[in-house]
Amino acid sequence: MTDPTVVREVDVHAADQRRAAGATLIDVREQVEWDAGHIPDAVFIPLGQLGQEIGAAVPDKATEIILQCRSGARSGRGTALLQQLGYTNVVNMAGGILAWEANALPIEAPATLTPAQQARYSRHLLIPEVGTKGQAKLLDSKVLIVGAGGLGSPSALYLAAAGVGTLGIVDFDVVEASNLQRQVIHSTERLGHKKVDSARQTIEALNPDVKVVPYDEMLLADNVERLIAGYDVILDGTDTFETRYLLNDAAVAAGIPVVHASVFRFEGQLTTFMPYVGPCYRCLYPTPPPPELAPGCSVAGVLGVVPGIMGLLQANEVLKVLLGIGEPLVGRLLLFDALDGAFSEVRLQRDPACPTCSDAARAARERGDWVAPAAFGLDQPFVLGGVAGFGGPGR
Ligand SMILES: [Zn+2]
Repeated sequence: MTDPTVVREVDVHAADQRRAAGATLIDVREQVEWDAGHIPDAVFIPLGQLGQEIGAAVPDKATEIILQCRSGARSGRGTALLQQLGYTNVVNMAGGILAWEANALPIEAPATLTPAQQARYSRHLLIPEVGTKGQAKLLDSKVLIVGAGGLGSPSALYLAAAGVGTLGIVDFDVVEASNLQRQVIHSTERLGHKKVDSARQTIEALNPDVKVVPYDEMLLADNVERLIAGYDVILDGTDTFETRYLLNDAAVAAGIPVVHASVFRFEGQLTTFMPYVGPCYRCLYPTPPPPELAPGCSVAGVLGVVPGIMGLLQANEVLKVLLGIGEPLVGRLLLFDALDGAFSEVRLQRDPACPTCSDAARAARERGDWVAPAAFGLDQPFVLGGVAGFGGPGR
């Protein structure tokens, strides 16, 4: 057994190897030192709190522990303390994080912004809920926008302005004159151009921090998994039911939240699908309507500002989800009526029999024998499912 009066030491390379092999590395410095940069996966417990907190952090006293501070002095005292408390396999990392850095071992850098970014995002940095850390998170985030049309145009502009670092854009269309009444990311001079190229040009001119990944293709069953892979949030700006179901099923399977909106003349609706937390699109609409009852904008028309308003509400939801702030519209369908100038809200519930997100569907997917429901079940009525209750305007 270890003599509690003798503090054993290891050098930084040995500490790195033991850490990689599963030893617990504890950083006993103060908060400001930790915030300025620390060893990846280190556990942070300042020396003054080590005695009280070690029991909860490392219950098993035989666990291999490496203690580390700035230069090795404080962690030496911490090592002695843990030995007195009965921990039998504790070593001090000689030289501390100074020696670690001098040997070019990895450091988890703090969130930092360039002076240009500090200027560009200064109004974000003033908000405590965003700040430098939140802005750095946005710059590191990846959002997939499906459809560079009425919803995708305003949302892409504002997400780009907000500094979302990667925007994937899926659209196979070209810019037409009838688009320009609402699809504000495009312009008259780009008539006939690919929408993904037009959107990329506008975004790159607005914010060079943003990397645009264009997907000049139609979202289909055989490419949806590839298109959505690696994205943090999906913004659904599609206008066909078939695409919405494909996107929904793939996003639930991949565990990616989808911020959904749709518009019709003077009306818009919006909700956030958080896989397994709230309902999914199929919980709401178990079956699509027959095509003759689901006219798109090209048939029914839409007031141009309505997709603008709904697209920006989608962008708002995306930012909330990325930053982990506020109350996302999970299980809530927000309805907007442009003529009344009124919002109302419908509460939604998960459908325990949902073919996509029910426990049974999830289990089948994990077994690998889940079968996608037919996209168009024309024998079934098109009804809004999962409604738990209606909320009045202003709720
Ligand atoms: Zn569902």
